[in-house]
Amino acid sequence: MIRLRPRFQTLTLLVLLVGIVPLLAACGSTAEEDFVSWEPSDPDRSGSTPYPEEPEPHSTTESSGVVRAGTPEVLATPSPSMSNLTPNDLKRLQPNEIGWIPVMEYHVITTDPARESDPFVRTANHLRDDLQFLYENDFYVIPMRELVRNEITAPAGKHPVVLSFDDATSSQFRWISDAGGKRVIDPDSAMGVLEGFFAEHPDFGRGGFFAVLPFNCFADDTTSNTADDCTDKLTWMAANGYEIGLHTIDHQDLHDVSDAEFQRQVGENVIWVDERVQGAGNMSRVLVMPFGDYPDRHRHQEQRRMMREGFTYKGVDIKLEGALLVGANPTESPSSATFDPIFIARIQAFKESLDQWFPKFESGAISLYTSDGNPDVITLPTTIPADLEGQFDPDVIVKSGKKLVQYHPASGKVATFPHDAGKTARLTARSDRRVSTTVARGGDLPSKTHRECDGIQRGAGGLYVADNWGPQSAHDRTVCGSLCIDR
Ligand SMILES: [Zn+2]
Repeated sequence: MIRLRPRFQTLTLLVLLVGIVPLLAACGSTAEEDFVSWEPSDPDRSGSTPYPEEPEPHSTTESSGVVRAGTPEVLATPSPSMSNLTPNDLKRLQPNEIGWIPVMEYHVITTDPARESDPFVRTANHLRDDLQFLYENDFYVIPMRELVRNEITAPAGKHPVVLSFDDATSSQFRWISDAGGKRVIDPDSAMGVLEGFFAEHPDFGRGGFFAVLPFNCFADDTTSNTADDCTDKLTWMAANGYEIGLHTIDHQDLHDVSDAEFQRQVGENVIWVDERVQGAGNMSRVLVMPFGDYPDRHRHQEQRRMMREGFTYKGVDIKLEGALLVGANPTESPSSATFDPIFIARIQAFKESLDQWFPKFESGAISLYTSDGNPDVITLPTTIPADLEGQFDPDVIVKSGKKLVQYHPASGKVATFPHDAGKTARLTARSDRRVSTTVARGGDLPSKTHRECDGIQRGAGGLYVADNWGPQSAHDRTVCGSLCIDR
């Protein structure tokens, strides 16, 4: 069956969870008053109405040498092309689209509570409870593709959440016969729980990302769930808003294999999914790393390069859109300056983990992504919360083709003026923090090599932790607030 490593090290997870809180707190706050909004250089890219012409902002050079822009013009009402939200909406909903996004991670679903001592097992009832908690706390389920492609469509005011399921045991999608002999989804399999919950809560979004192991493929020893039923299940899933992704062909730990084996493990899995899943549900360029292990960053740089830049296997071009860790915190927003699609963190759903994270979500102790409802506009408050330190870089957002809008959280008023490169440079220089971010980045956005953490120790369960649990040097400050993974 599933070849999981021996019991995941709960203790390690707890250490990580406890450790990240002071790390987040240590990052400090950078208040940005009277800040501004941005738009891409081509405001007509989607046929939207360009911004109204506005006066050139005044710039003054302060004694510190940091160039400050003058007070921007304030629009009484944002134009529809910027945001569909009025100042009142912004004040009420407080959108923040560089906030944290939980990617929930499930493995085996059971009806036997005794099995839950294993952190890889969650009861169907607790899965329902998790969904209920998320629903009651204004989360909205988005598909994985919206996260990795930065096309988040959660309604205004909602917090996006991605649901992910590893390994494809039959506990995740099992067919049973009802009283009339008709084939139905077992209501206590993950798919049964999801379908039941989505049906009762149509305003919760829907979706689930399944990292399918071909040798499992939801089969067991019952007659309705054979390996031959696999394609039917995948077809049904893709037609009903679910997504199928990669987990290698053999659940191979990719920490230390040859380049050819790396290509085979990923490539065969890609071909397998592509042959069976059509349409939006095919997410055969998103890889869940078995055991959370990445190719060793010293011995296997070529494989790391292939993960970022792609490779060709049996004539198929394979360029990953994302790769997922096993733990252990919410992920950065795709509009965050420190988001790295090849290292997307997840929250493993077991009691000790959720006892740490759910209260933080509920209390606002961490700054969740809160949507403005418009995937083409990235909306932020003028004051960046402390736990998002280092994650805001206007250039990153503008270069992604999005419009950037900032609003005053107390009034909801939006400020805006036209974007051009010169203004970007001046405004980027407005805070020391952003200056240092820009310098550290060295203009090398895609590779983000500055995020490499020195002094990595390989922890239990495939996780990597910096030995002193904190930024190692000035350039590593950009990882502050995120798990220091072996990037
Ligand atoms: Zn797995």
